[in-house]
Amino acid sequence: MTDCIFCRVVEGKAPAKRVAETEHVLAFRDIAPQAPTHVLLIPKRRVAESAAHVRDDHAVMLAELFALAARIAHEEGLTRGWRLVTNVGPEAGQSVHHLHFHLLGGRPMRWPPG
Ligand code: AMP
Repeated sequence: MTDCIFCRVVEGKAPAKRVAETEHVLAFRDIAPQAPTHVLLIPKRRVAESAAHVRDDHAVMLAELFALAARIAHEEGLTRGWRLVTNVGPEAGQSVHHLHFHLLGGRPMRWPPG
């Protein structure tokens, strides 16, 4: 809890290329981009470790987050499509335990993902 890198980004104590923010959500560029556009969207407060811990009272934040993802995709010119994905647990490759969604675009996406 105390050593949460995304909490430090929100607090401005760790560097990040910020893209946009709303009242409850911050978007910044992934440090190791997997596509021409790779933006992370997180709740500013660490209300959940992952999507496995999402509750009803996160609804406003999540609606904000999805709307912001769509806005960023539009602003990044991702007219041919984009992907919004969240990893839960070790088998899905989750490495940061602060709920986050990856917005990926700018190249063709394979399905199913790796
Ligand atoms: P996940 O593996 O789904 O938990 O995603 C965590 C993501 O956070 C990875 O894609 C990392 O590259 C990214 N990441 C970790 N630390 C930072 C950071 N300080 N700034 C930006 N992205 C980060």
